[in-house]
Amino acid sequence: MSVLVYVEQVDGKFKKSVFEAVSYAKAIADKQGGGLTAISIGNVDENELKALGKYGASKILNVSNDQLKNFINQAYASIIAEAAKNENADVVVLSNSFSGKGLAPRIAVKLKAGLVDGAIELPQTDSGKFLVKKNAFSGKAFAVTELTSSVKIIALNPNAFGVKESGVDATIEAFSPEIKATDLTAIVKEIVRATNKVSLPDAELVVSAGRGLKGPENWGMIEELADLLGAATACSKPVSDADWRPHSEHVGQTGIAISPNLYIAIGISGAIQHLAGVSSSKVIVVINKDPEAPFFKVADYGIVGDAFEVVPKLIEALKAH
Ligand code: FAD
Repeated sequence: MSVLVYVEQVDGKFKKSVFEAVSYAKAIADKQGGGLTAISIGNVDENELKALGKYGASKILNVSNDQLKNFINQAYASIIAEAAKNENADVVVLSNSFSGKGLAPRIAVKLKAGLVDGAIELPQTDSGKFLVKKNAFSGKAFAVTELTSSVKIIALNPNAFGVKESGVDATIEAFSPEIKATDLTAIVKEIVRATNKVSLPDAELVVSAGRGLKGPENWGMIEELADLLGAATACSKPVSDADWRPHSEHVGQTGIAISPNLYIAIGISGAIQHLAGVSSSKVIVVINKDPEAPFFKVADYGIVGDAFEVVPKLIEALKAH
């Protein structure tokens, strides 16, 4: 069985979720007794590409093309599908990131392949079936999907599978598939990032706040706490609806779904729609002045107290270390 993993670059660098996807793909290849090839699109330097060998990719297809340096859904999907055909890949793995969510179904259509997006575990193949587990109903249940197509696509949830080093020597091959003009009708020329803060979908630590903060003027302490921890900031829906915070920070059923290692919820009640996007966090810490707040039921650690007293004390303690 041959496995292909798409390694998504941002500004020529790979994020941790890429190493997770490579480690996951390597584990599938090892279990099935096959090889692992990675495909990178855009301008990534050789050292960065070679580092993928550390996680088990023995061959790296490098599509280096200035026109493709920024993400273009159609063109990237066509190239990955082409590479999968060339490599006779039985399984294609990618990260269930923002761009992965757009790519996976397009690749699936091109390869007439079955797809599981948001996978959280390695496929179970012992019964002779190819079964992939994912979260369902906003994290309230699991779904196990059988993929019966000859090519199978799996989009792995970030933070669901640990990075594993296997130390393989990677060879890099230039890959220059023909790119159709129709795949380049919308070209992203430049991406300017507004801040250098931690990106929420990939963050391992998240400090989130809700309506309990009373107003946007009180977010200084939330940002300070997040900066001290190296965390991303998030918020509940009413907070972004009221324009206290940008919509890109809204987590939950109608916002972003995240699964960081640590989620600190400050002045958030823990409504079911909020929990839908954060309940797969590994550790949840809740700070709320109401001991009956529903969030405490799912918290690993809880502080019953006023955010305006607790958060400054946390900041003080972190600064003292
Ligand atoms: P509140 O419910 O007002 O809670 C504020 C909390 O702060 C309270 O628990 C209070 O005890 C505490 N508090 C107050 N003062 C302090 C203080 N000084 N110190 C400490 N704690 C304090 N919500 C989302 O977040 N994400 C979603 O994706 C989402 N999708 C939705 C989809 C639908 C279809 C619907 C109907 C609703 C959705 N909601 C969503 C809204 C959701 O139902 C809740 O209304 C919302 O999550 C509540 O936000 P909150 O906890 O910030 O505010």
